[in-house]
Amino acid sequence: MTILNKMINGKMYAEKMLREIYPLSKEFLENFNRKPCLTVIQVGENSASKIYVKNKILTARRNGIESREILLTSDVSEDELIQHISALNKDEDVDGILVQLPLPKHISEKKIINIISPSKDVDGFHPTNFGNLFMGDPKFIPCTPLGCLYMLKHEIENIKGKNAVIIGRSNIVGKPMASLLLSSDCSVTITHSRTKNIQEHTRKADILIVAVGTPEMIDETFIKPGAIVIDVGINRLKSKNEYHPSDKGKLVGDVNFEKVLKIAEKITPVPGGVGPMTIACLMHNTVKAAYLNKKHYFINVLEGIL
Ligand code: NDP
Repeated sequence: MTILNKMINGKMYAEKMLREIYPLSKEFLENFNRKPCLTVIQVGENSASKIYVKNKILTARRNGIESREILLTSDVSEDELIQHISALNKDEDVDGILVQLPLPKHISEKKIINIISPSKDVDGFHPTNFGNLFMGDPKFIPCTPLGCLYMLKHEIENIKGKNAVIIGRSNIVGKPMASLLLSSDCSVTITHSRTKNIQEHTRKADILIVAVGTPEMIDETFIKPGAIVIDVGINRLKSKNEYHPSDKGKLVGDVNFEKVLKIAEKITPVPGGVGPMTIACLMHNTVKAAYLNKKHYFINVLEGIL
């Protein structure tokens, strides 16, 4: 098998999803005389966040979605941020609200997530949406795990009964991923920094999802031959070029791609794997929010996925 045959092309899947979303945003404009609207709030100057926000805004614009950006300085108070969100909650022309994480330490992420109206929570982080997901009746699913599931369902003929192991238990990736895989009839194990003998678990995984935040931590010793590996991690290595310190370092995942490629059946690359799918799923959630907030039926473009 060549490298290309083994690579799960997240960019290609993202384009496929966006091709289904675009006609729906066009139809929304025809029906309601405005585009679906996503508002992104960014607090501070985190350089990774700036890139993520820019990509989200550009993808929205290319896909018939109005995107607004609110930039706040890192010393903004929690109260002022809450006031912005409250105003957006009331604004009938705003369908989706996304607060780019992480937030500065003096602001409680939990409090901020709880303030966003569940019907505009396109990140799917609000407890109401989180609870609905775990009850098996999701409305807005967190974008990264949704994107992972979309690729898995396309790549694996029958996911039922597979052993799925997740490394990482964050609310953004690990926990919702576990819920989605459980709903897809996988047997799910979640591992984390306190798990003993983590390889004993991962070597039994037909599907391994890695969301750790440590560059290239996972090598071939973690992998069952023939496993499908989804690398969620995005890590920017420091530039090694002392003459040009401003050069950006290489972008790598949490998985050592070259080593794992030799033993896995399929693997997502970084970049070009989970990242583009996350943004496509955000577009999906925004257009869905727009239709639902107008009390209008939303065509399920995830038929066969959920
Ligand atoms: P968090 O830091 O919130 O969670 C990391 C998880 O990994 C924790 O559960 C932690 O365990 C676990 N962990 C850390 N070290 C180890 C270890 N040595 N062995 C086993 N488990 C470990 O990160 P996120 O979930 O938010 O993100 C994970 C990665 O995914 C990051 O690289 C991030 O940049 C990337 N990401 C990418 C996205 C995309 O669109 N592609 C979107 C979101 C995130 P414990 O709970 O015990 O501390």
